[in-house]
Amino acid sequence: MTEPVSEATDREVFLRLSAQLWGLLGSDGTLNELGQTWSQYLGWPAEHLEGRPLVDLVHVEDRPAAQRLLYSLSEGAPVHDADLRLAQQGDGHRWVRCQAEPHPGAWLAYLVASDVADPRRDRAARVLLEEQVRVGTWELDPGTGRNVWSAMTHELYGTDPSLVEGSVGLGLERYPPGARETIAAAFERLRATGEPYDLTLPFLAPDGTERQIRTLGRAVLRDGVVVRVHGTLEDVTEQVARHRQRAELTRTRALLEEAQRLARLGHWEGDLVTGELSWPPVVYELIGVDPASFTPTRESFRRLMHPDDRELVGEAARRTVTEGQQTVDYRVCRPDGQVRHVRQLIRVAPDAGDPPTRLFGTIQDVTELRHAEQALRANQELLERVLAATNDGWWDLDLVTGGSFYSERWWALCGYAPGELPAEPEPWRQLTHPDDSARFEADFEAVMASGARTFVLPSAGLHRDGHRVPMVVRGLIDYDDQGNPVRISGATSDVTEARQAELAKEEFISNVSHELRTPLTSIGGALETLAAGVVGELSEPAATLVEVGQRNTHRLRLLIDDLLDLERLLTDRQPFDRVTGPLAPLLAEAVADNEPYATLHGVRLVVDAPPDEVLVTVDHARLAQVLANYLSNAAKFAPLDSDVEVRVRPNPNGARRIRVEVVDRGPGVPAELQPRIFDRFVQGDPADPRSRGGTGLGLAISREIVERHGGRTGVESRPGRTCVWFDLPLAGAGD
Ligand code: ADP
Repeated sequence: MTEPVSEATDREVFLRLSAQLWGLLGSDGTLNELGQTWSQYLGWPAEHLEGRPLVDLVHVEDRPAAQRLLYSLSEGAPVHDADLRLAQQGDGHRWVRCQAEPHPGAWLAYLVASDVADPRRDRAARVLLEEQVRVGTWELDPGTGRNVWSAMTHELYGTDPSLVEGSVGLGLERYPPGARETIAAAFERLRATGEPYDLTLPFLAPDGTERQIRTLGRAVLRDGVVVRVHGTLEDVTEQVARHRQRAELTRTRALLEEAQRLARLGHWEGDLVTGELSWPPVVYELIGVDPASFTPTRESFRRLMHPDDRELVGEAARRTVTEGQQTVDYRVCRPDGQVRHVRQLIRVAPDAGDPPTRLFGTIQDVTELRHAEQALRANQELLERVLAATNDGWWDLDLVTGGSFYSERWWALCGYAPGELPAEPEPWRQLTHPDDSARFEADFEAVMASGARTFVLPSAGLHRDGHRVPMVVRGLIDYDDQGNPVRISGATSDVTEARQAELAKEEFISNVSHELRTPLTSIGGALETLAAGVVGELSEPAATLVEVGQRNTHRLRLLIDDLLDLERLLTDRQPFDRVTGPLAPLLAEAVADNEPYATLHGVRLVVDAPPDEVLVTVDHARLAQVLANYLSNAAKFAPLDSDVEVRVRPNPNGARRIRVEVVDRGPGVPAELQPRIFDRFVQGDPADPRSRGGTGLGLAISREIVERHGGRTGVESRPGRTCVWFDLPLAGAGD
């Protein structure tokens, strides 16, 4: 059963569901009785549209077509497929296709318009466009949550549009951590507030590679509310790479320029035909001209060259063409008056033709280098002259690398030419006389252990013809932060002449001593006979005079004996009778022998005996002589009723040596005397009665004896404590 009411209602429902725009045109061309689709479609409120002339809504360019449509209708003819653009609210127009038919009643016509944008065509066009620009788009309706991805977007994500719908979660998945948080936050802000974004972020492409993606987000707001968000995606990996390359290039160029400036080096290029030159700013700086007023040409540059050098440079340029690359050093006279030395490299430019039309190369300011070279040459010359004058052999040892240098003169000291002996890492060991090597090495070790910066040591070389060359070695030691020696440099002098003069002196003293001895013996005998009263009783004053004479004869004899003893030691005339044995009994014996002398001075001798396994190889009588000298000196200077100690301890500068010390509590050796007390004839204050009676030769003899045993002597003294010591090598330790 059909009823008119229900029939009318049905029609209304159909009309409401229809996506088309329908209404009635008034005879004055106004729009009336419009369906609600109009508002939805164009965005205008219904009041704005109702009763408005159609022409008002039509795009200016389509107004003639609209006029035509109205005219046809007024003539009673229907109109089909008239395409017009209608104004939207806000901005823009939409294409509609109109169908109209004259109204049989009071209205002019029925009008139905429909959207002509063909969605399929639209999509195809968009895909084409996307492929061209490779930009994907997406759109999200926050109301429905519907997310539409374009074909390109799907391609970027590696998803199949027929299987997968776009979604925010899927969208975020391909961003690596870090980038993901950034895009998620930006997207959230876009959705909530409409704040747009434009980000370039790393993106994991479906093939697993990391790409750079630029993504834009925009929102459409209506009354402050986000009604739609949409955006684009673009793979910008190549652009980013290109951008980075460009940035890198710029940076490299800046670095190069800076490096050139620092090296005071620039490049140049010259045209052989026109004479034009070109170069970077650094060259202007180098030659001291202002780029604003100086035009670089062969002629203008030639004028800056030193007149004496111009031909040289011209010649080098000509030779470049025939012989290839040239280097030329010359002077540039800068306008500010400075003369700079430059080094120019000249080459034929690549692709310069044949014959070449272009040259290029570098130019560098080498003034400082030149000055340094000149100074170095002058220094070397000076050093060579000075060394030639000293007649010393010089050497340099690098203890870290093992490298060494020995001058020609050094080899000549022992009769060799450099390179004549097989290369030894330490030729000095080979060329030290065997009698002196143990002592020299011990001395050398002691010097390094003491941390001394310089040293002067006696030594002796072994000449190629076998004779002994007395030498003095002077050196300078460098240490590292830990105190290890790293480099030693020095000079070795031949002291044969000085030694010969010394020997002549010794011989003279020895001869004089011998000559004095015989008459002295007869004087002594005569005085003794007198004192004994053999020739008659002496008066009191005569007896006193004879006593003075006897005392001085005795002293003179002591002095002569000491001098002759020393002479025997120095000239090596008396061989040593060395025996290896424990040190302790030798010390005990010496103490016993000197006990009476000590008692005479009111002091006790105390010995701190070393263990029996301390063995030495010594001439017993000679060692007893050294100890007697040390002990008698100590007894003489020690205060009444005090102890004089004999102590033994390991040598502080080497484990394979032993040190014997004689310690007293006397007034000490004056500081200025300490370095010399082992020298001949050195004695303390003559006003001091304790200094009297001695000869000043005791310690000199002691030193000679100790050194002949491969040992050393020394003193450490302050008021109240004096320690006179000697070192000896332990038996079996380098003896
Ligand atoms: P002398 O025959 O004069 O003792 P030495 O060579 O034995 O000659 O000693 C040289 C000088 O060294 C002495 O004159 C003395 O001034 C000083 N001397 C040596 N031993 C000591 C000591 N234990 N205390 C103070 N001075 C000393």
